[in-house]
Amino acid sequence: MALSSGKTPKNMAFSTQNITKVYGEGNASVHALRGVTLDIPAGEIVVLLGPSGSGKSTLLNILGGLDKATAGTAFFQQDNLTEFSDEELTQYRRDHVGFVFQFYNLMPSLTAKENVELVTEIAENPMDALDALALVGLKNRADHFPSQMSGGEQQRVAIARAIAKQPTVLFCDEPTGALDSTTGRAVLEVLQNVNKELGSTIMIVTHAANTAKMADRVIHFADGDIREIICNEHKLSAQEIEW
Ligand code: ADP
Repeated sequence: MALSSGKTPKNMAFSTQNITKVYGEGNASVHALRGVTLDIPAGEIVVLLGPSGSGKSTLLNILGGLDKATAGTAFFQQDNLTEFSDEELTQYRRDHVGFVFQFYNLMPSLTAKENVELVTEIAENPMDALDALALVGLKNRADHFPSQMSGGEQQRVAIARAIAKQPTVLFCDEPTGALDSTTGRAVLEVLQNVNKELGSTIMIVTHAANTAKMADRVIHFADGDIREIICNEHKLSAQEIEW
């Protein structure tokens, strides 16, 4: 429940009220979000499901400080993201947010460890790059280059890079979209482990409905709005998920 002041209750990571997002103008405008109101409790794994174009990534980008809402409010803890300046959004992303995308965006000329160090060198309270790689099960690949690793391993390096700053929130946009079932499951297991070990809130946008089984909360999107929110009483471990 949102407080009347609009601020996020203490144990919530995010609280939004009537978020809208319109891209473009006039006849060419696209209503990507049509008034999204939701609370995300801190420390949960949240999966956003829904057809392509339903607004999932747009919401993720607004909550992650990569994009701005057209109207409405989005609180991160006690701060109103929708009133942040560009500098404040940059600071928010740097201090609190990790991103994992479908394509790993690793620097090909840097080793796994060096890719992770790109983040640990500028973060406020980073973990050691090797510890981050250990958390994703790749400490022994620290000196390997991306071209020497499989897709699943590269994605785990990208996750190590995203979590090395010990983010409050980890946003994942189709993290298993380019992976086969075995490596996809390994990546989900890593995300579950990060949630458990670091306590980060994790929000995952995916087409893969089976991923929802490991979530605390599943948000179904349709046509720019939430259609249904389901809380899993018995969430599965990544290993138990069938593909
Ligand atoms: P999903 O993640 O559910 O696939 P998106 O949030 O990516 O959906 O997109 C929602 C709608 O907004 C789509 O119609 C998409 O084409 C449109 N959209 C997303 N980003 C932009 C943009 N930068 N410019 C114009 N339209 C966009």
